[in-house]
Amino acid sequence: MPELPEVENVARALRLNLQGRRLTGLKVRFGGVLSQSPRLTRQTLLGKRLDRVYRHGKYLLLTFSAGENGAERSPTPRQLVGDSLAADSSGRYHAGETAHLMIHLRMTGQIFILEDYRPDKHVHLVFDFEGLPVHYRDIRKFGRFTLVEDDRAPDAIRHIGPDMLEIGFAAWFDRLVERRAPIKSLLLDQGIAAGLGNIYVDEALFRAGVHPLTSPADLSRDELKALFRAAKSVLRLAIRHGGTTFLNFTNFHGQPGNFRRKLRVYQRTGEPCPRCGTEIARAVVAGRSSHYCPSCQREA
Ligand SMILES: [Zn+2]
Repeated sequence: MPELPEVENVARALRLNLQGRRLTGLKVRFGGVLSQSPRLTRQTLLGKRLDRVYRHGKYLLLTFSAGENGAERSPTPRQLVGDSLAADSSGRYHAGETAHLMIHLRMTGQIFILEDYRPDKHVHLVFDFEGLPVHYRDIRKFGRFTLVEDDRAPDAIRHIGPDMLEIGFAAWFDRLVERRAPIKSLLLDQGIAAGLGNIYVDEALFRAGVHPLTSPADLSRDELKALFRAAKSVLRLAIRHGGTTFLNFTNFHGQPGNFRRKLRVYQRTGEPCPRCGTEIARAVVAGRSSHYCPSCQREA
């Protein structure tokens, strides 16, 4: 499943290749990946220029405008969460000249930006950006493209916390410190901070030497700070390596990410710990597989 680093790479690819281009065509082969009708989606987006691509957690928000000039500098990204956002996301999506498209790739969504891409039966949308085709492929069809009203966030995003790469330690600490659940579940809790999935949580806990079942109350502020830094650095490292490819995720050029080789504990049960040689163990925490070193990550 694409997680924050994979989605960040998609965001960068969209910015690099499509920002400033107009959407001149949209072929819908399977309308189920659209939240609105193909007709409304086309009516809202066609002819508009992609001005801005913003990522929050695993969500992408694309802003289109009817601007006549060349690409302008994107405005400062707006946070998609918080009480300042109006609750009502119904209404018109194309009032005025700006339109917003929210994308979530879910389990198996892939975006290809390749001139000679040959679509197979799993390609559901084909966007045309002034001659440059962009294919959306999704084997399990859980991904969603949703028009969202100007300045408002739909239900899917309102409950999620600040992005893990943007939140500062003090704010993160405040959101976490009073909670009683195991640290692993809190790191996975998208309401605290958005973007950490199972792979990166296991890797961050290992790097910080924290057992997945530890309660935040049993960790010092310095230990939590080390964990916070480990989580960010794992995400940044994974972004640099194009993400981690399991199953179906590949980047926009169809190449797999190579962060998998850098994983120290995730899905390495029974292999020696790279730090001390103890066998990596596996336990289920919060319904998810957790991989850790029983010597380096002692339960508090
Ligand atoms: Zn170890």
